[in-house]
Amino acid sequence: MLNKLNTQLAILGGQPVRTSLLPYGRQWIDEADIETVVQTLKSPFLTQGPKIKEFEEAVAQYVGAKYAVAFSNGTAALHGACFAAGIGEGDEVITTPMTFAASANCVRYCGGEVVFADIEADTYNIDKYKIKDVLTSKTKAIIAVDFTGQPVDLDEIMDLARDRKIIVIEDAAHSLGAEYKGRKVGAIADMTMFSFHPVKHVTTGEGGVITTNSAELYEKLLLFRSHGITRDQDLLELKNEGDWYYEMHELGFNYRMTDIQAALGSSQLGKLDGFVKRRKEIAKQYSEAFAKNSTIITPAQKPDHDSSWHLYIIQLKLDELTAGRKEVFDALRKENIGVNVHYLPVHYHPYYKKLGYKKGITPTAEALYEGIISLPLFPAMSDSDIQDVVNAVEKVVAHYRK
Ligand SMILES: *Cc1c(COP(=O)(O)O)cnc(C)c1O
Repeated sequence: MLNKLNTQLAILGGQPVRTSLLPYGRQWIDEADIETVVQTLKSPFLTQGPKIKEFEEAVAQYVGAKYAVAFSNGTAALHGACFAAGIGEGDEVITTPMTFAASANCVRYCGGEVVFADIEADTYNIDKYKIKDVLTSKTKAIIAVDFTGQPVDLDEIMDLARDRKIIVIEDAAHSLGAEYKGRKVGAIADMTMFSFHPVKHVTTGEGGVITTNSAELYEKLLLFRSHGITRDQDLLELKNEGDWYYEMHELGFNYRMTDIQAALGSSQLGKLDGFVKRRKEIAKQYSEAFAKNSTIITPAQKPDHDSSWHLYIIQLKLDELTAGRKEVFDALRKENIGVNVHYLPVHYHPYYKKLGYKKGITPTAEALYEGIISLPLFPAMSDSDIQDVVNAVEKVVAHYRK
């Protein structure tokens, strides 16, 4: 229960719920992780060594995919996926506006056109019916984002795509460890991207991966990651030139992950299930705490879409409050709760506005954006941290309730 003396908002001069800021996300690095990195630093290979393959195999095995290709970051991995999908000028790629800009930017890197499909009002994931509405003969790929960690309607989206020879790239930056109909995310779409940025489920500092079951896509991803260069005897135009010989077949990039990062990643993967379990517990506690608060909408979960909970987002019922999201957000920050907003709809960014995208193209996402706040969520949060967040949210919305 809130202490009566503590109901005055910190932003109005009262006592904050916490004395130090609780961030919205934070990595979990233990001594085993540090030891693994130090060992790699002492080894002959800092990059292009054995740790990359070990990490790729561990990721592939974890998600049940045949192949994994590690990249320097998740955005580079998405770029690789768009390249492997053959996206180029004149191609359209459908994605959600309710995501980090990288989910759309990767299409632009390849010269393709981004087409936004609106989201479901309850899960905030891309709406399969809205995808159908914007499909054209130019649609080359769908980039489906498992927003907050809850898998999209993969079966229906894969069905839509298969009939039309469209490639599905799953942006699973939020959903490592999530399950769809009892299967881990990562082996269902044509290609799946995971990010290892420190706020994501496991970290390599910077890093990303594409998993796939297709040998053809795998080869393209490998080529793209390393300058488009190959030493594969089967692929070389000139045979028997010698061991030093290589050829560049595509305009690739240097998007390689280092062995230092890969070693950290392998060590982190061993803790993933524990991290996901804790994230689920925290989300459950939030949902239970806010279930009876009529000013807050908690995120809907579909059966068989088992989220790994990267983000916990509350939606404010703005018509029941005397203040907007900005005031509630500022008040929570002053209570020392590191809230955040995920995300500004991608087409609101000036870059996309300049390309001609207008407000109004995805009304559900745009309305949602007005009232969302992401609460702190990371496995190292203690039960008293969770209680602080709940107390602060209750304190602030009570103040602004009509
Ligand atoms: C984090 C993230 C990315 C990009 O990953 P980086 O590793 O930071 O480049 C892409 N899409 C979504 C939805 C993300 O959250």
